[in-house]
Amino acid sequence: MKGGNRLRILFVSTTVGALGSGLGGGVELTLRNIGLALKSRGHEITVLAPAESISSGLNIVQIPGELQPTAQTQGRDAPIVLPPNSVLGNLWQTAYQQQHNYDVLLNFAYDWLPFYLTPFFDRPIAHLVSMGSLTDAMDQIIGQTLEQFPASIGVHSKAQAETFPFGERCRVLGNGLDLSLYQFRAEADRALGWVGRIAPEKGIEDAIEAAQQTGLPLKIWGAMPDKDYWRSICERHPNAVFSYEGFLSTEQLQRSLGQCRGLLMTPKWVEAFGNVAIEALACGVPVIAYRRGGPAEIVQDGRTGWLVEPDSVSGLVDAIQKLDKIDRQICRLSAEQNYSMQAMGERVEGWLLGVVGSGG
Ligand code: UDP
Repeated sequence: MKGGNRLRILFVSTTVGALGSGLGGGVELTLRNIGLALKSRGHEITVLAPAESISSGLNIVQIPGELQPTAQTQGRDAPIVLPPNSVLGNLWQTAYQQQHNYDVLLNFAYDWLPFYLTPFFDRPIAHLVSMGSLTDAMDQIIGQTLEQFPASIGVHSKAQAETFPFGERCRVLGNGLDLSLYQFRAEADRALGWVGRIAPEKGIEDAIEAAQQTGLPLKIWGAMPDKDYWRSICERHPNAVFSYEGFLSTEQLQRSLGQCRGLLMTPKWVEAFGNVAIEALACGVPVIAYRRGGPAEIVQDGRTGWLVEPDSVSGLVDAIQKLDKIDRQICRLSAEQNYSMQAMGERVEGWLLGVVGSGG
């Protein structure tokens, strides 16, 4: 350690996309915000990340190699795979070689290898798990890591933790934003918003269906990893009034999202957290979400939005009709009270100091 409680921390990024590409989903923003929050508390941060990664304000070391396939698209019994010249392997090889320059490593990837390697490193590794339980192989290796290093596993929400057999032993860290980047908008336009990776587990079709039934336009922002999936959605809903607005930077996204009368969150899986929920609240935009996963812990039903029975399009429609009962000021206030970057920085710092103190 550098003195006091100042840590030198090596972040190892997600392996499914470059930082800034959107393919990594919420992890990209989470990594950046945790990095900046810890930096502002005096810690030194270096990030190992796939080639072409960008994340302003952080020192990034780019590592080449083939990206990992995404875990969401595999079945429970999926085996562990590594492509030739894997970026996952290359990242952890570099981490192994450079570990002695750091006090602790922080893994952001939902991959088997870093958990497996943990006991072989001299430096402790903390793992921030970004999704709920998806495969038996991952459950097994995360559980095994917890047995040996009881402080080392962090998650974002209670609902996410509960998807794992060892959930009660994970450290729940929530998430946070730099609220100064999100402007409060008291007045909304007509349109509803939907933000996220355009992928089956995100359930965009329910949002389109609900918007169509209410006659309101739906604006959609997010990375599009699979264009065929999007085309099939457009073909199935030829008459719906929705528009794809692209994948925007945080600054542009908050400006456009802030104009929406509500954000729809319609995940088909247990969303670990749902960064977009707190981004919407930070702009004063109420959130309508299925009562499932992280969003159900973020949205205060009737106060900052509405929670709807999972997979119920008619429930979404009812909630859209009640949107004007929500006070946009209260939404912003809830983001300020619960999801500031400072509060998140304190929580993550406390966790990492515990990991260092217990040797893993
Ligand atoms: N996002 C963005 N620009 C866009 C649309 C989305 O930067 O135009 C980001 C958004 O800020 C959020 C992430 O994409 O951090 C989606 O993360 P979320 O936690 O909601 O879901 P995940 O993709 O991790 O399942």
